[in-house]
Amino acid sequence: MSATETVRAPVFDRQGEPTDDVRVEKAMQAFVKDFGLVAALNMEACVHCGMCAEACHFFEATGEPRYTPIWKIEPFKKAYKREYGPFAPVYRMFNLKSKVNARELENWQELLFDSCSLCGRCSLICPMGIDIEGLIQQARHGMAAAGLVPQEIRAAAERQSEAGMFPAAQLARLAAERGVAIPVDRERAAVLCTLSQSELDDYPDSVVAMAKVMNHLGADWTYRSDGYESSNYGMLAGDLALQKEASLKLIQAAIACGAQSLVLPECGHGYSALRWMGADLFGKPLPFHVLHISEFLAAEVQGGRLTLNKIGKSATFHDPCQVSRLGGAIEAPRVVLDALGVELREMFPTKGTNWCCGGGGGVQDIGRAQPLRHKVFHMKMKQIDETEAELPVTSCTGCRRTFEEGSAHFKWGKSMNSLLELVADNLGEAA
Ligand code: SF4
Ligand code: SF4
Repeated sequence: MSATETVRAPVFDRQGEPTDDVRVEKAMQAFVKDFGLVAALNMEACVHCGMCAEACHFFEATGEPRYTPIWKIEPFKKAYKREYGPFAPVYRMFNLKSKVNARELENWQELLFDSCSLCGRCSLICPMGIDIEGLIQQARHGMAAAGLVPQEIRAAAERQSEAGMFPAAQLARLAAERGVAIPVDRERAAVLCTLSQSELDDYPDSVVAMAKVMNHLGADWTYRSDGYESSNYGMLAGDLALQKEASLKLIQAAIACGAQSLVLPECGHGYSALRWMGADLFGKPLPFHVLHISEFLAAEVQGGRLTLNKIGKSATFHDPCQVSRLGGAIEAPRVVLDALGVELREMFPTKGTNWCCGGGGGVQDIGRAQPLRHKVFHMKMKQIDETEAELPVTSCTGCRRTFEEGSAHFKWGKSMNSLLELVADNLGEAA
């Protein structure tokens, strides 16, 4: 089965006007840059067992072979074998692997972006330990260099870079309306909190909840106008320069105010970007802790500084892939739910093998991916329904957005609750 036989009507966006040859050349240069020892070992190790297919919700929901994870990196693999691998000269001499062409790259956009939420389930399940999700992220670098990224993700990455305008008036209004103090630009603070503009626009309760909790704990905290945006669209777009720029703003703001901890809000990919990739981009270990808000809350509960009123309902927790499976913060939200006195009904599968909601990795932003997202979301809905829990809860605003869209589409009648907002609404006696 050749690459060209499996692709359908082209669905792709283009940036800029370079010729096909230039696009291919730029993609190849970026691919080759990423072919380090680890990527090479990953690509040589596949035994074609097919197990990663069943791990992927896009394959499970559609049964379409083109959504098999390892197939999604085929042009990347092809480039490796032809340009970099140990037998590259032989492949080239006998044309055993044809050169990747512009049409293939265009057709692969849907596989690398629309149908991959970077959830990491395939990497977890592969018996050869191949980090397929990591390879897909690297393959996105080549697509970004070639100017072949879904327009919505590209535009969001550029907006994030250009805007840089701290939403001071919006925050001040929110603080006044809700009667909550939101400190900004304190010169020194032990805790630097961050937020995303889209969270502030669509889920302001979440921003208020962060402030309420921090104030309740008497934390020495602040937002900073020189580094506040937690989401990182550069990472999702495969643009390393924009990814680095976004991460460095946060890192430098934390250093400037002497923060011991930088707390990320309920933002899944923002956690991966800073917690696991930040130090690499900074070039040395970060001189502060990076905590997802669920980790921060769990530490406060376990330290006896945060007590919560009991909700007395049943709940199920949707593990955001970037925080739980890829981030390892699996028990933290459960510690908090326990403190809220809920009867936790786990989904099956759950925790590290939980099914993705289908919107991560930028998929939720891509308009044309909506029908595919809905197919995946149907699996998620079923998982939640089977628990018969009263409250679905998560700790990622991106997941909540996907749930909102899917719930409206299927007239599900359920909505996804924020862990942080549940905490803010049920604060116990201050310690
Ligand atoms: S599970 Fe791993 S070894 Fe099996 S086909 Fe997928 S990538 Fe290859
Ligand atoms: S990372 Fe997730 S969505 Fe992407 S190919 Fe792997 S299992 Fe599928």
